[in-house]
Amino acid sequence: MKVKVLGCYGGIAPGRGMTSFLINDTVALDAGGLSFALPVDRQAKVKDVFISHAHLDHTCCLPFLIDNSFASPGFSLRIYGIHEVVTALAKHLFNGSLWPDFTSIPDDLTPVLKLVTLEPEKAVKVGNLSVRAISVSHSVPTTGFVVDDGKASLAFSSDTGPTHRFWDVVNATKNLKAVITESSFPNSEEGLARISGHLTPALLGMELSKLGRDVPIYVYGAKPRFVSRIKSELAVLKRKNLRMFVQGRTYAI
Ligand SMILES: [Zn+2]
Repeated sequence: MKVKVLGCYGGIAPGRGMTSFLINDTVALDAGGLSFALPVDRQAKVKDVFISHAHLDHTCCLPFLIDNSFASPGFSLRIYGIHEVVTALAKHLFNGSLWPDFTSIPDDLTPVLKLVTLEPEKAVKVGNLSVRAISVSHSVPTTGFVVDDGKASLAFSSDTGPTHRFWDVVNATKNLKAVITESSFPNSEEGLARISGHLTPALLGMELSKLGRDVPIYVYGAKPRFVSRIKSELAVLKRKNLRMFVQGRTYAI
């Protein structure tokens, strides 16, 4: 499985401070930075977007992703999320006010956009990928995702504070090859991290004690002004398989 980092944390790259990962060129996990980081011809290849939660740094490119491609012959996009997520997108974004309601354009029968509600932990198939949404602990209803291509599985926690079910599912996932998780604030801001449903490097260290598998761990989410502090605090954890994602890089999982 090929994972391209379209948005992960601060820096001079496009999509800074936003979150989006592209799998095998066609399936996206979250959509912060997605249309900023990809040229238009490659945006049109993205057919399925799984949204972990409605926060703008994970969804802000959805309007432009559709707008840039909806007039292309045969274009359609499916956006997946748990009930609370698709409801928020329909009510607050594709509502005909903030942005057109593409779920009824050009008409109700053949819309360019479909919002697909996910049942937590129930797998959906997209091409050769199987995707499960797993609930995590953030300030709004949020899931991570476990993506399986039959040979390798990838677990993405999305934004989360200390959580449990995600790690239980990760530990039970066969073919697990990588975990993507977050560290948004430095250790000095633990209070802020806890009330906003995020992790510091120290909290991440405690979370990783729940991980019973020896796989690479990729960290995203550092707030732009804290990137270097978080990087040094992650080094203190002394986990040889742990590294921060690099904006724009493609990883083979
Ligand atoms: Zn969030």
